[in-house]
Amino acid sequence: MLGAIIGDIVGSRFEFGAAPKRDFELFTSECSYTDDTICTVAIADAVLNGREYKDALRDWCNRYPDPMGAYGNMFAQWLASDDPQPMNSFGNGSAMRVSPIGWLYSDWEEVIGEAERSAVVTHNHPEGIKGAQCIAEVISWLRHMRFTKPEIERKVQKFFQYEIPPMKDILKIGAQGHFDATCQETVPMALRCFIDANNFEETIRLAVMCDGDTDTKACIAGSVAEAYYGIPDWMVERTFAYLPDDMLEILDQFYTKIRSEINPKQ
Ligand SMILES: [Mg+2]
Repeated sequence: MLGAIIGDIVGSRFEFGAAPKRDFELFTSECSYTDDTICTVAIADAVLNGREYKDALRDWCNRYPDPMGAYGNMFAQWLASDDPQPMNSFGNGSAMRVSPIGWLYSDWEEVIGEAERSAVVTHNHPEGIKGAQCIAEVISWLRHMRFTKPEIERKVQKFFQYEIPPMKDILKIGAQGHFDATCQETVPMALRCFIDANNFEETIRLAVMCDGDTDTKACIAGSVAEAYYGIPDWMVERTFAYLPDDMLEILDQFYTKIRSEINPKQ
């Protein structure tokens, strides 16, 4: 979950500008959490505190109505509606907010089912659902099965029919100014960043350097990388400084639960 938030914060300042060079500064005063973080916290709150996904998303997004980068147009209309209905979206928003489900559920059926439930309140298009299910399941696989990266790539192709493009192709279309905003594009690109990088920090850097939807690509890649590598302490500390108290409370609740499941004595 925190891996997603770190990717979002680091990628935030590059969403609408040129991609940075390899040694760019990760955390600056221009960085902020964006909709990716707010929606991720909302999904965690829903699972941890027994809330409906729709209610939690609307609550958190209305608490933070004007994040850096703004909400997408369709999602903003959904937030403003008195009677919000699913919008048949296949935008990458369903995959960027799903990471808590990969940690808080374990069985294949549970992870797949909850990822779908978290998606369909807005992203009820089959590709929107699939994007969320794939990322939640990859996190679950990495945590419980300790699959290797080649195994992850094969299983993603087998169960979710994503062809993960080579990095050179992703960099090429990013350099051409292409902005990826769908699950079909962003999910396999983010997985390539995870597969090609050698550690958590490098995963985030690669995803941001691919340009396009930098915060969401880094958010999704970071959420997967956390399950594989963990997160360096210094990055956790820097990230906390960007987050308001109510988000920190949900993070505390989330990691307390995760730790207690790994070590029941804690
Ligand atoms: Mg965003």
